[in-house]
Amino acid sequence: MHVHLVGNGSGGTGCWLRVRGWHRPLAALMVRQIGLPSSCLKGDLDRLYLERLLEQVKTSSLAGAVILAHDKVYDECGKAMEGAGSFYVPNDYVLRLARDHRELLPAVSIHPARPDALDELERCLTGGAVMMKCLPNCHNIDCNDRRYTRFWERMAESRLPLLAHTGGEHTVPVVRRELADPRTLRLPLECGVTVVAAHCATKSGLFDPEYFHVFVEMTRRYPNLYGDTSAFNVPIRGRHVRECLDPSLVDRMLHGSDYPVPVHGHFAWLKGYVDWATFRRWETHPNILERDYQLKRAMGFPEESFSRIWKILRLPLEA
Ligand SMILES: [Zn+2]
Repeated sequence: MHVHLVGNGSGGTGCWLRVRGWHRPLAALMVRQIGLPSSCLKGDLDRLYLERLLEQVKTSSLAGAVILAHDKVYDECGKAMEGAGSFYVPNDYVLRLARDHRELLPAVSIHPARPDALDELERCLTGGAVMMKCLPNCHNIDCNDRRYTRFWERMAESRLPLLAHTGGEHTVPVVRRELADPRTLRLPLECGVTVVAAHCATKSGLFDPEYFHVFVEMTRRYPNLYGDTSAFNVPIRGRHVRECLDPSLVDRMLHGSDYPVPVHGHFAWLKGYVDWATFRRWETHPNILERDYQLKRAMGFPEESFSRIWKILRLPLEA
């Protein structure tokens, strides 16, 4: 779960990408991570990115990948904030890819302030959405805003889970820093939505506020709250692996990738989560989906943390 799609629209996908300032070398680093030349950011990115992703999923131990759409940034009144946001991946693109490739599962992205939010939700449910993804701090979504109640209720009724970014963020521009706090997810949780706090609300940068303990407290209060392990193989994010493996928390853990975010085992080795031989064995593996999976297995994440997601996704065909 938690595999990003990115595109520049070169293949008629409707995607766009707008990287500025220091995000530019970061974007180049990420495409090189997955074995693409950085020149493809301005070239045939749509096709190359998809081909590479499919190849990596198919040659990994994973049965499939939940791919993420990425909505535009809106203000509280539902007006698109021009110039905000660094990339866009339309819902129709992920829905189409999932129809064409059985190993891809579509997570749509809908800003609940959009005037057409409920209609778009219905359209995506009909189209086979398995999940909804948003980044409250980057998309400018205060999930506790009472105006979104009907939206969350409809998600709960249709068993569509919410994957929400929590904790600091440095890859996508942040609009409202305070919405990195997982407490912003209380209203959807109270409406009965199954919510996955991406990254378990761990911090990303050294100076980000730490919300991991808030996430842990919330899992005690809300049985419908989970956390994903996405980007745990970058320094800092992986600081709380031992607490995540604690019997009081481990049943709420879901394997998440954050592809194409780099995967490196140095931090896990330095912290003693994996031994030297394991680190050496997987660090040079060219498939970052597989590298990430194997490092997390070695850290002690149990088998169920990799398969639990099947019980959470809305899978209309199998239902
Ligand atoms: Zn992500």
